[in-house]
Order: sequence, then C-alpha cells, then structure tokens
Amino acid sequence: MRTEKPRRPRVAVIGAGFGGIWAAKHLANKPVDVVVVDKNNYHTFYPLLYQVAAAEVEPEHIVYPVRSILHKIPNAQFVMEEITQIDTEAKLLKTKHTDIWYDYLIISAGSVTNFFGTPGADKFAYPLREMDEAIELRNHILKCFEGAILTRDEEKRKRLLTFVIVGGGPTGVEYAGALAELIYRPLVKDYPNIDFNEVKLILLEAESVLIPGILESYKQYPLDRLEDLRVDVRLNSRVTEVTHDDVKLADGTVIPTETVVWTAGVKADDTVKAWGFATAKGGRIAVEPTLQVPDHPNIFAIGDTAYLEQDGKPLPMVAPVAIQQAKIAAENVLAAIEGQTQKEFRYKDPGTMLTIGRNAGVAEIKGRGFTGFIAWLLWLGVHLFKLIGFRNRILVLFNWALDYFFYERTVRLILR
Ligand SMILES: Cc1cc2nc3c(=O)[nH]c(=O)nc-3n(C[C@H](O)[C@H](O)[C@H](O)COP(=O)(O)OP(=O)(O)OC[C@H]3O[C@@H](n4cnc5c(N)ncnc54)[C@H](O)[C@@H]3O)c2cc1C
Repeated sequence: MRTEKPRRPRVAVIGAGFGGIWAAKHLANKPVDVVVVDKNNYHTFYPLLYQVAAAEVEPEHIVYPVRSILHKIPNAQFVMEEITQIDTEAKLLKTKHTDIWYDYLIISAGSVTNFFGTPGADKFAYPLREMDEAIELRNHILKCFEGAILTRDEEKRKRLLTFVIVGGGPTGVEYAGALAELIYRPLVKDYPNIDFNEVKLILLEAESVLIPGILESYKQYPLDRLEDLRVDVRLNSRVTEVTHDDVKLADGTVIPTETVVWTAGVKADDTVKAWGFATAKGGRIAVEPTLQVPDHPNIFAIGDTAYLEQDGKPLPMVAPVAIQQAKIAAENVLAAIEGQTQKEFRYKDPGTMLTIGRNAGVAEIKGRGFTGFIAWLLWLGVHLFKLIGFRNRILVLFNWALDYFFYERTVRLILR
C-alpha cells in the first residue's frame, strides 16, 4: 500500500487492542495521519474472555469492529494485515501483501500464551488468550460431557470428567469459578445421566499462593471460595508434562485428564523477536522510560509487548498499563514532531479486581481491599462500563441477569 506521501506525518499503530485503540484516540484531530494495523478486524475485551470459554457470554458481545471505533477519529484509517517484518531504515511495515510506510510507529502487538517450554503443553493444553481459543475451549468442555454419556470405558469417562486449570493467577482463578458454576448448575440439568460426583475440577499453581501480588489479608479468600465451589486447589504443584491423556507434576503425581487449560502466563509473540529490537524477559521489547525503543527515537512500544521497570519491578501485563502508556506514547509522538522534550512514563496502579463465581470477588483499590458481594458488584459495574459498545453492554448484562436469576447459560452450543 505505497501511496503518495501526504503533507502530515504519518503515525502507524500496530495492534488494535487496548494500547493501539487508546493511542489512536489520543491522536484524534491532531496534525498527523494515523493508520492502525491489526491482523483481526475487531477489538477484544480480554477481561471477559474467560466468560466466553465458560459459556457465560457470547463471543460477539465482547468484541467490537475496529472500523466502527475509528469512525469517530477522522484522521485515522484501518488496515487489516499481519505485520511480519519492520524495515526501520526505510520506515516500512511489511506484511504478506503490502508495505505500509510510517514516520512514527507505536507498537502495541500484545502477547501470546507462554507454555514455558513445558513438554506437550503447546500441543495438548488449551490456551485462553484469543477469541478462537475461548470458543474452542467452550466446545471442548461441552464435548467432554457429550462423550462421557456415550463411553462405556470407565477410565475414559473419568478422564473426560476431569478438568485441570494450570495457573492460579487472576484468569485461572476466575475461570475456575466460572467453570464450576457452569458444571454444577446448568450442566447438571443438561446431563441427568452423568454422576456429577465423578466430576473433578482441579486448579494447579506452581507457587505457594493464588493471585500473586494480592494483599496478604485477602490471600485466604480465593482458596475458601474455590473450595465452596468444589474446585480442588493444589498449590506448589508445578506441571512438567502434558499429554493427550494426562498431566504430570514435578512431585510425580499423574492426573488422568483430556482437558488441561493453560492460564499460566504470557510472553511476546515470537514475531516480535524477528523485528530485530533488543528484547528483555518474555521476549518483550525493552523500552526507555519515554517508551521509545532504544536507538529508534521515532518508534515507541507499549502494553504487553513492551518491557519497562518501575521502582525495580517490571510493569504488569494488564490493560491499564497499555491504556496509560498509549497516552504518553501519543503525546511523545506529537512532542517529537514539534521538537519538544519527551515525557517519562509513570504507572498509576488503579488496583486489582476479580470475581470468583457469583456474589464473590476480590477488589483492591488504592491499598483498600474488599471481598464478597461488594467486590463482585464493583467488578460487574467497572467491566460493564469499560466494555466498548452500548449494544454489547446491554447484551452482556442480559446474559449475566439470566445466569444470575435462573442459573441459565444460553450459550451452551458446540459450534463447528
Ligand atoms: C484471558 C485474559 C484476561 C485478562 N483479564 C484482564 C483483566 O481482568 N484486567 C486487566 O487489566 N488485564 C487483563 N488482561 C490483560 C490485558 O488484556 C492485556 O494486558 C492488554 O490487552 C494489553 O493490551 P495491548 O494493547 O498491549 O495488547 P492487546 O490488547 O492484546 O492487543 C494486541 C493487538 O495486536 C494485534 N496484533 C498482534 N500481533 C500483530 C501483528 N503481527 N500484526 C498485526 N496485528 C497484530 C492483535 O490482534 C491484538 O488486537 C487479560 C488478558 C487475557 C488474555
């Protein structure tokens, strides 16, 4: 896509996720042309992805077309392409089909699942990072119940009815809670021939605590709550191998199962390494405090793709980091155009929030913590507010209400 160079500087943004969309918003109506490039034509609201995999909300309700978002930004355009290479000399983004030129570049390409080199995990475990993975996981869980009715092999039935989640961070804990409520509520009604005492839901965490980083006084709450939901939480349990039929732990335990959900971590995509910038832990691009990529003053990296430490600790891979960095990156691009000094980024942590099934959650805001119903309500309100699109908010609220009042999940479909 080589067109005649316009008069205004062109800012290319890789990724229409939290960082990319917010960067484009901060460049709206500024004297630059913006081109947002993403391999998908939709923006995903990842905090609700686990609810797609737990048949709680429909996939379309948590995504939004990028072009619709960009309608409101007259100086922005969208290109649906996957960036494979970056030619920093010629200032070109390379894709399979075209070249996209830029004067300034903001990289916000997100992350992918990190299997930490665990044998078999990339082949047999189910990641929960992208929309298609969430749909595949939902299909698989429902198929396990269909398969359990049909099989006459007792060992096979036990494997089909054992669900293992690896990783006790926020996503693993939230998914364990949502899956328990799917299994022990609607699925009990759907599968009267299954003995639900045979069902096992296991959450494995390599460390000695769930949700690392949570306030000391709230560490016990998720454990108690998951126990109430019949989730078998096993701390200090490091996975050493995943096969089609089981998962093996460092202490020699073998858990027969055909479902291993991997929520143990994320890293930058290997493509990012191929772009040739210096990388840090997790293959992420090491950036200056101004978010500039070293030796490339016209290139900025933000969000999950970027690695930056604050007060000696790496910034977390969460949406508020990407959103706050998007603002500084956009301002620094404009400052660079005007020959002004670059601002340094400083993260303001808005807190942590998660739910563990209905009426239960943990919220930590500015050093104050809440658990139970209040935290759950706070989580609901904040996530509904942050979801893009009025229609999506109404539909998600409707699904939540249906689930809450009637224990009914409408999306128990196995789609091909
Ligand atoms: C299941 C799950 C639950 C989460 N829950 C929370 C939560 O509750 N709270 C929270 O704060 N954070 C949460 N996060 C983390 C949060 O979603 C990320 O930190 C955030 O999305 C990072 O924003 P980003 O812009 O860096 O990347 P993303 O939002 O991931 O966007 C990256 C975009 O880049 C595109 N892309 C990637 N590579 C290319 C390429 N080569 N060419 C073109 N386009 C490309 C992708 O398609 C994607 O649209 C969760 C993440 C997951 C996976």
